[in-house]
Amino acid sequence: MKLRTVKGLYLVGLGVGLIITIIGGTVFHNETVIWIGGGIMLAGIVFHLIFYRCPHCRTYLFRNNGEFCQHCGKALFDDEE
Ligand SMILES: [Zn+2]
Repeated sequence: MKLRTVKGLYLVGLGVGLIITIIGGTVFHNETVIWIGGGIMLAGIVFHLIFYRCPHCRTYLFRNNGEFCQHCGKALFDDEE
């Protein structure tokens, strides 16, 4: 999976989860909806932990938003269009 795809899905997951949590708390006043929103955010974070890795050395990139791996120094997006 491409790193940009992972990043995009992660941000969408966090955004959707956050919106569901807020709506659950303000519109529905429903704890179950809040937990679903929280679950989606948590799934996004776990997904990020598993897939947001350097394509060369497989090191987790943490909050690295640069073009190069902090571990091996190779370009992260050189195989992507
Ligand atoms: Zn690396």
